Amino acid sequence: MTAAAATRTSSLALPSGRAALRLHLASGRRAVIALSATELCLHLESGESFHYDLEGRLLKVADPQRTRLRSLSHQVLTIQPAGSSTARLAPTHDASDAVVAEAVERVALIAHELQARWADVEAAKPSKPRSLELIGPLLQRAANFDVPAARRDAERLHALYGHTPSLPSDQHDALALYATEGCRAECTFCDARRRGPSRLRTAGQFRQHVLDAVAYHGDALRARRSIFLGESSALSVPVAELRDILGVLREEFEFPPARVTRVPTRWWLGHATRFDGVAGFMDPTVAERRTAARFAALRTLGLRRAYIGMETGDGELMRWLRKPGNPDAIRHCVKTLKAARISVGLTVLLGAGGRKFAAAHERETARLLNALPLDRDDTIFFSPLDIDADGGYAMHTMAAGIECLTDAQMREQERAIRAALRFGGRRGAPALAHYEVEALVY
Ligand code: SF4
Repeated sequence: MTAAAATRTSSLALPSGRAALRLHLASGRRAVIALSATELCLHLESGESFHYDLEGRLLKVADPQRTRLRSLSHQVLTIQPAGSSTARLAPTHDASDAVVAEAVERVALIAHELQARWADVEAAKPSKPRSLELIGPLLQRAANFDVPAARRDAERLHALYGHTPSLPSDQHDALALYATEGCRAECTFCDARRRGPSRLRTAGQFRQHVLDAVAYHGDALRARRSIFLGESSALSVPVAELRDILGVLREEFEFPPARVTRVPTRWWLGHATRFDGVAGFMDPTVAERRTAARFAALRTLGLRRAYIGMETGDGELMRWLRKPGNPDAIRHCVKTLKAARISVGLTVLLGAGGRKFAAAHERETARLLNALPLDRDDTIFFSPLDIDADGGYAMHTMAAGIECLTDAQMREQERAIRAALRFGGRRGAPALAHYEVEALVY
């Protein structure tokens, strides 16, 4: 055996998890099928792997050159080379069709060999009969997940949400639930306003939506950590309505007690009805009408994290973007949330206001962030502006004669803001994250 072959074979060691099988296929090649608390994965000797959720939906195909992530909305994001931060979202569903077709061909063949007993089971954990019992039905579902099935599944997702949910990057494993539709704000850079003004679902409508979401996600909910309330600024609805929304969630799901600040993964992982808390976006002006005690009461009902699309610390730029709020409102809001032990996520929009606002955007954003009582439980997201050539922002900049920043200039702007940040204190510094909106398809 060559050294390379020995390495490949050792990478086919049985992983820990609920069940695993190592197969010697009719072709002479080997494959490992592993079932964990979150996914079914097939590893081939070639270095390829195919990952499915616990409902048998394809989520990821990886090989030594690249990783392709397939969203539930049937879009493909390619990360190339594997592990780099260069990610590209395919513009059409053709790329997803190709990934699903490639995976189903390989997986269906292995499922057939296993069922026909052409493949030898070389090793199994915890035992061959138990592993076959646990893996067999899900492997069959994965083998049936062909292009028509993938497209039908994406249509079910679309019927549930109306459009593809867009979540902050640290909520990629959340269950998205919509308590509201549309948005009351009219920020120039966002297309949520095209979906019309904000409408709040009644408790009955929201409960039905929750039940539909549970039916759609099925067993795959075992891998989902938190609940992300959408759409847009769902946490801005009046307190009485927000209490009703959280009440519905508490009837359907289980949350850790309010006194627990760090929820261990084992508490929710593998449980379809357990989540470590509720998060959502919030308009910062809401805190003008809501005290820390009110927020603390919402925390006891499950609210753990609020996201604020601050975009910039420059008040003039905020007004130009038609963003609700102002620097003082953000300062007051973050202070009030932190006093209630609700963590915050703040987004900074790189490139906002182009060259005209660049210097003030960098200076005032760093100044505002430095003035906030942030700690290790919080995150600042730097998100590059993604300009739709036919959208309102493009028209707005053209009318004002503003030159937009290039990708390189936005990266430079991020570096400049990061370099000016000063955090300290007993409770540590917030996490800083780069957040490409297109890389977060649900
Ligand atoms: S508040 Fe948020 S969702 Fe609403 S229009 Fe502005 S950026 Fe979009």
